This record gives sequence, structure tokens and C-alpha cells, in this order.
Amino acid sequence: MATLYYEKDADPSLIGNRKVAIIGYGSQGHAHALNLAESGVDVRVGLRNGSESRNKAEEAGLRVRSVAEATSEADVVMILLPDTEQAAVYEEEIAPHLNPGDAILFAHGFNIRFGLIQPPSEVDVAMVAPKGPGHLVRRTYTEGGGVPSLVAVAADPSGKAHELALSYAHAIGATRAGVLDTTFAEETETDLFGEQVVLCGGLTALVQAGYETLVGAGYQPESAYFECLHELKLIVDLMYEQGISGMRFSISDTAEYGDLTRGPRVINQAVRREMGRILEEIRDGSFAEEWVAENASGRTRFTDLRQAGLDHPIETVGAELRSMMPFVTAGKQKIQDVSGG
Ligand code: NAD
Ligand code: MG
Repeated sequence: MATLYYEKDADPSLIGNRKVAIIGYGSQGHAHALNLAESGVDVRVGLRNGSESRNKAEEAGLRVRSVAEATSEADVVMILLPDTEQAAVYEEEIAPHLNPGDAILFAHGFNIRFGLIQPPSEVDVAMVAPKGPGHLVRRTYTEGGGVPSLVAVAADPSGKAHELALSYAHAIGATRAGVLDTTFAEETETDLFGEQVVLCGGLTALVQAGYETLVGAGYQPESAYFECLHELKLIVDLMYEQGISGMRFSISDTAEYGDLTRGPRVINQAVRREMGRILEEIRDGSFAEEWVAENASGRTRFTDLRQAGLDHPIETVGAELRSMMPFVTAGKQKIQDVSGG
């Protein structure tokens, strides 16, 4: 079994004796900055000039500086900008102000794993990656809990990078829930694979293909929606609470026999081979290269694909059915509020 770190395994004084800059005040940034401040850490927030977040951060009692000033003042710099923006901001406003002995931290390994950011050799490079959205990092902390997190070290000239990362994890509440060692490569590659193949890409394509198959065969779109999308949550909740076998215990024998005999025909050898190819594109850097190029060229393909998803008939029928189930949409406004960055 892997080692998990808890409260007693971290030394809060390590981060307590440093000056921390949180760069960005979005989902993760606001949570890290506020949790660190309430844990007694000397923290400032680095934002671009004219940032809409400036007022929010100042109203919350935080000191706001430019990215360059925050980096100069601090000796630990946590970069919580969107992954596609980090390299440019790093080059212009962070790198020139790093000193030997400083540490830079990330909450996702993308830029280090794919070499988009190459920190100087005398700076510690570590990751503290909460396994949950920023609003939960904040809310659980205020409630006395925390979000489980991963830590990793990419460069350790001080010999203390791991202890520093654990101390930072302690200050944001993560050691209350459990902190696990990983590497920049493992965190980045498994995160991208999970979202592409299972959690987002695989799941949405499966739901749409099931819906299209039923509607194409002449069944009512409403039946297809309930069957292929709405019920998914009930099944996923059972898997989340009790694992796959626990879910199977709750469904009928007919459903279970269909699951066991037909599931492997849907996710067949061809699909598994494709999963392997997708993993290879992640590991050899070609996915990262494609995504960086897509951003550099104005995101036209991304925007078109997003629009095609919005135009899919399952969205129209779904919106109508959900409007009749206010209990389903009750949490919707909250989700939009926190995802705005
Ligand atoms: P976000 O989009 O919510 O916030 C980014 C912040 O950066 C915003 O305040 C935005 O105004 C600011 N910003 C954008 N471009 C900028 C620029 N050019 N210069 C200065 N500021 C700029 O981002 P996030 O979701 O908090 O992600 C931050 C990091 O945390 C990423 O590395 C991400 O992978 C990681 N992460 C996110 C989550 C999550 O649930 N959101 C979970 C774990 C890790
Ligand atoms: Mg400095």
C-alpha cells in the first residue's frame, strides 16, 4: 500500500517561516490563499493589472500585488493560473524574479511534465494537487476538514522540497484528509487519461451514442434521455458508495446478466487498443503539443466542437425534461457560480 500523510506527518513551521505568493485567484487560487492566510501563513496574491479578482481578494482581506511584485516578495510561488496561460506568465513575470533557494509549486503537473516551463536548477519544484475543485478546498477547510491531495517533487536542490510541500498541504487542510506521494509524470498522465477516456470523453461519447442508437431505431427521445443520461447518476452513486460489485448487488439479475455479457462487447478489444493509443499520445507529448497549438491559434476547432456538443438533440430534450424536475436542477446555479474562475 502507498504511504499516506496526515496531520502529524507535516511540520507547519516550514511554510510558516516562508513568504508565499499565490498567482491567480480563480477556483484553486482563492481557496489556497484564504486557507493559507487562516493557517497563519504570510501570503500575498499575484494578479494581472486590471484583474477582476483584485476586489474580491482585497475584500477577503488579502494583499494583492502584480505577479512580478508578488514573486519578488515571496520565496514560495504557487502558480494557479489556467494551465495554458502559465508558461507565458512564467517567462515574463515570474522567472525574472526567482532567486536561488526559492520554491515554485503547481497544482497540476502539465507544464513541468511537458517541458513548457523549465525552472532554474537552484529552485525547488514541487506539486500540491488537491483532488477536488477549489470551492471544496475552501469549504471543507472552513468546516474543519480538507480535500485529499497529491504531492510530488520535480527538483529538490534544497533537499527539503517534499517536507515543504507537505507543510503547504497541511496549511490548506489537505493533511486532514490524506496526502499521497506521486510524480509529476504520474499525476499528469493519469489525470489526462482519466478525463479523456473515462470521466469526460468516454462517458459523454457513450451517452450520446446510446441515445442516438435508441432514437435512430425509432424510440422516443424522452425515453432515450431518461435511459442513457438521467439514470446514469443513480448507477454512479451506487458505484461511488459501494464499488462496482455493490452496484451490481442493487440492480436486477437481468440487468446484471446484461451488464456482464454485453459490457465487454461495447468496450471491446478495438476500444481497448484505442485507449492504449490515447495514452501513448499523452505520454509522447503529442496531445500536449496539439492543445498548446490549438490555444495559440485561437481555439477555432475547440470552439466548433463545443458548439456541436451544444447543438446535439440530447441537450434540447434534456433541458425540457429537467425543467420539469426542479429538484434535479436545484444545485445548478451554485455550480455555475464556482466554475466562473
Ligand atoms: P481558474 O481558471 O479557476 O483560475 C485562474 C486564475 O488565473 C483566474 O483568477 C484568472 O483570472 C487568472 N488568470 C488567467 N489568465 C491570467 C494571466 N494571463 N495572468 C494572470 N492571471 C491570469 O483556474 P483553476 O481551475 O483554479 O486552475 C489553476 C490550477 O489548478 C491549474 O494548474 C489546474 O490544473 C489546477 N487544478 C484545478 C482544479 C480545479 O478543480 N479547478 C483541481 C486541481 C488542480
Ligand atoms: Mg522572491
